[in-house]
Order: sequence, then structure tokens, then C-alpha cells
Amino acid sequence: MTQTGSTDLTVVGAGPAGVAATLMAVSVGMSVRLVEQGVPGGKLHHIGALDNVPGDWHSGPDLAAALSSDLDRARATQLLYRTTGRATAVAGYDGHAEVTLADGTVHRSEAVVVATGVTTLSAAAAPWIEAPDGFSPSPLWRTDPAALRGPTWILGADRPLGTWLRAHPHVEHTLNVACPPGDDYKSVEVEGDPRVHLVRCAALAVAPAPSGGAGLQLTVRGRDGRESLHVAGTVLHNLGSRPATLDGLAQGPDGYCPPELQHPRILTAGDLRSARFQRVVTAQGSGAQAALARYYDIALTGD
Ligand SMILES: Cc1cc2nc3c(=O)[nH]c(=O)nc-3n(C[C@H](O)[C@H](O)[C@H](O)COP(=O)(O)OP(=O)(O)OC[C@H]3O[C@@H](n4cnc5c(N)ncnc54)[C@H](O)[C@@H]3O)c2cc1C
Repeated sequence: MTQTGSTDLTVVGAGPAGVAATLMAVSVGMSVRLVEQGVPGGKLHHIGALDNVPGDWHSGPDLAAALSSDLDRARATQLLYRTTGRATAVAGYDGHAEVTLADGTVHRSEAVVVATGVTTLSAAAAPWIEAPDGFSPSPLWRTDPAALRGPTWILGADRPLGTWLRAHPHVEHTLNVACPPGDDYKSVEVEGDPRVHLVRCAALAVAPAPSGGAGLQLTVRGRDGRESLHVAGTVLHNLGSRPATLDGLAQGPDGYCPPELQHPRILTAGDLRSARFQRVVTAQGSGAQAALARYYDIALTGD
């Protein structure tokens, strides 16, 4: 086990929440280690069309590039240390906190902000889908429209569907969207789009196409109990997500990690906190808030 020098704060995740926490902490003079498994920007890299972030941003990757430049500039303060790696665990103690990485390195600090966001829910974990072992469709949000072949089915009506449609206004392909009851409220934003054929269903079974043909056979059970058979050329995944937790984080009944359940030296921010506030601006706000909460803890209590 390698142990590194201590900082005021360790931030895990460099999406909008983790970057906001880092920039806020550095701006008030705290030393920060930022741990990110990939590149800065998080889910911003998957947002083709953006229209709800102040600052006239229209594309997620452009905003991700700006955040990355902000981090590069913050390095000049000599308060920011960056580590590429995957965190696996976090722990809070009386006098400090620790983050453990997959390679066994332990980063010690006064406190930790965890902003690891959410990760894709697998088809196997969706109770309304029955599918053969190993069935693992590509996510809609990463799909280039040119890859759509034949009748196209989208499993789930989660919000990335609306973003994908806005990002590809010229695509005319019809998307058959299998919408379970839990997704009804999310489907409102896309139900007027002529390219969307919403199939409100109770359950869906996936099987190979009959007689070894191309594509897949879908048996859709409607909410009235009636079944219908369909052959799909393309099946994509849009099932939503689950929190990307670390060992040591306290989880609520829904699996999310709200700040109020954590050890006082562990703060959570961004999408990881709850299923309700999954937006770029709320992620940024909560990241900055977490860093400031820690800053005032030190200022007021010296702890
Ligand atoms: C397709 C799509 C479209 C969207 N469209 C919009 C939109 O139009 N408007 C809007 O406001 N919001 C939109 N969102 C939601 C928005 O992207 C999120 O709310 C926001 O990115 C959350 O920020 P975050 O920092 O909490 O998490 P993320 O952006 O998910 O960042 C988490 C970061 O943590 C890193 N990480 C995760 N686990 C570890 C680990 N164990 N160790 C180290 N690093 C780790 C990840 O690599 C990632 O960089 C969209 C999301 C998607 C998927």
C-alpha cells in the first residue's frame, strides 16, 4: 500500500460536480487532490445538444473542454494535484479521511468530496425485461444515427432519449420506445416528436430472431396483458442509471448517497446524491457547496 502526502481535500470524479468542488476549494486556498479515472467532463462528453446551462453553452463536449482548461489554469496555484485512477473505497476517521484506489494507493486528506455520478443500469437488472444471458445492447446516448438498421427499438424512456433527439434533428428513423410504467413521467418530453412511437408496456422479452434470421424477436406485453410480437433490426438501451457508489459510502433505500447520511468528513455531490437533481447546474452547485461546507467547517471549528 502506497500512502501519499495529505491535502485539505480529496475530490473523486472530475465531472461538473467534482470540477466545481475543486475550483471552489482551490479558490479559497485549500489544497486538493483530484482523482479521475478518465478525462475531465464526465457525462458532458455524451451531451450532443445542451440548452439549460447558463453561459450560452450548446454542446457538452465544449463545456467539458472549458472545465478541463479551468483545471489546467488552477494548477498554477500549486494547490491542485491530479491523479488518474479509479477510486474503490472511502473512509472517514476522527482526524482525517482516506480514499483508496484500485492500485492500492491511499490518499489521505482532511475531507473527501465524492462526485462519481451514475452508471448505466444493465438490461439484466431491469425487472420488466427478460433476455438471454449476455444480452447487452449499446446505450442510445452513444449511438450514431447512421448505425440504426431496420426496425429500431429503444428499451426504456429515460431522459437521454430527448437529448439524443435534439442532438439529431435531421434523423427521420422511427424509434419504437418500450416504456415501462416507471418511465411514463419521463416520456412526456418526447411524446410529441413524430419520430417516437411510444409503446407503453408492462414487460418485454428478447429472443433471437426465429429461424436464425438477422435481428431479434421482441415479445411485448401491454398494460392490458395482451402480447404482441415484433422483429427488431436494432435494439438499444435507454434504461436509466444507478449511482456509482464506492465502498464506505452510506446509501439510502434507493441506492443513492445523500450528503446527510455520510461521515462528517465525507461529502457527496452531483448525480450521486439523488435521482431527482440530475442536471449539470445542480451538479455544479452541489460541488461548490460541498467544498465551501468543508472550508467553513475548518474556519469555524478548526477541525
Ligand atoms: C445522454 C445524457 C444527456 C444529458 N443531457 C443533459 C442536459 O441536456 N442538461 C443537463 O443539465 N443535464 C444533462 N444530463 C445530466 C448531466 O450530464 C449530469 O447531471 C451531470 O453530468 C452530473 O455531473 P456529476 O459530476 O455528478 O457526474 P458525471 O458527469 O457522471 O461525472 C462523474 C465523474 O466521475 C468519474 N468517476 C466515476 N467513478 C469513479 C471512480 N470510482 N474513480 C474515479 N473517477 C470516477 C467519471 O469518470 C466521471 O468523470 C445528461 C446526461 C446524459 C447521460
